[in-house]
Amino acid sequence: MLQTPQPIGFIFKQSYLNKLKLSITKGNMIIMKYGDDQCNPAEWREDENRSMRWMEFPREVLIGKDVLNAIPDVLKKLKLNGKAFIVTGKNTADIAGKIIAGNIETAGGLSEVYVSDKASPEEVEKITEAGKAFEADCFLGVGSGRSIDLAKLSSRNCDVPFISVPTAASHDGIVSSRASIHSDHKSKSVDAQAPIAVVADTEIIAKAPFRLMAAGCGDVISNYSSVLDWELASRLKNEPFSRSASLMAYMSADMILNSAEFIRPGLESSARITIKALVLSGAAMSVAGSSRPASGAEHMFSHALDRIAKKPALHGEQCAVGSIMTMYLHGGNWEKIRNALIQIGAPTSAREMGVSDEDIIEALLKAHSIRPERYTILGGGLTREAAEKTAMVTKVI
Ligand SMILES: [Zn+2]
Repeated sequence: MLQTPQPIGFIFKQSYLNKLKLSITKGNMIIMKYGDDQCNPAEWREDENRSMRWMEFPREVLIGKDVLNAIPDVLKKLKLNGKAFIVTGKNTADIAGKIIAGNIETAGGLSEVYVSDKASPEEVEKITEAGKAFEADCFLGVGSGRSIDLAKLSSRNCDVPFISVPTAASHDGIVSSRASIHSDHKSKSVDAQAPIAVVADTEIIAKAPFRLMAAGCGDVISNYSSVLDWELASRLKNEPFSRSASLMAYMSADMILNSAEFIRPGLESSARITIKALVLSGAAMSVAGSSRPASGAEHMFSHALDRIAKKPALHGEQCAVGSIMTMYLHGGNWEKIRNALIQIGAPTSAREMGVSDEDIIEALLKAHSIRPERYTILGGGLTREAAEKTAMVTKVI
């Protein structure tokens, strides 16, 4: 029997409680509330004082050619020898989902393939039920983003781990604990759980549409402005700040920036750089215990644009364009970000993203209200004149 501290609150889920008891060292204090939604470790992170950090990392990360063949070994290593529930999309089922199922079965395991093309709360419900009926002991999200989000949420509902198998490198959701879910034509970012393993086949990722990879690069490059927002919040609002997490976020952005001229369509080496940067960016969020190092005002701008534009662009594309503008507001080197995006072939203007100039201004004006508790360079909001000037000076409109 291990000596563990007395709880100062009550929580329903025994497995989390045991984990928590073991991770609190003497003298630390945690505010615990009770209720169903308090069973989410992510919420504890919000409540914890500065002396405790909750870091969740993937245990196995495989990047390279033919790594899908190694999935049975990954499952074995993680002692997930029973039943794997594979969530995948229509296209990704053929290029990866079914191949993985075959590999698992050849190795003597059991799997079920669930093909889904929408990330709605109802679909999460359906997948959760199907996973429970199958008695899955882990989920695999196999796809460009949607399938990974669905697996992330359903596995959390089933209280089993999930493995992220990206078939494209379009955003850092492939390694983070957050998932995007769509309801009433709005997308919402919610906390689910981080993957226990990431298996990224660079050959498959290199063959995915290049626009997706360029967007993934944009998502990582936007870390330059996210970290500045975080530093600002730390100075102005005394928000906890992690130097190590911020350095990791910068390092991942540097990886893309320094290789911008080598990131080209169809190249496996480009897929490798992009995935490595996305994994490192995800690790920065794990160290921080929040998405802070990789999500600032530019992400709020992107969420606002999702709600405003008739046909929004990709997440990473919008965040990168947002980052050009918020970097300008910080008085930083926005041209460096813009030039790297041009070199990669990612959009840098409203026209290239297929949205109107007015959408950009509206999104800039609305962005600060998307996540008001997250302080950024936008403060209490820009004036229309300032928003117009920002978009014009940075050549976004
Ligand atoms: Zn992002």
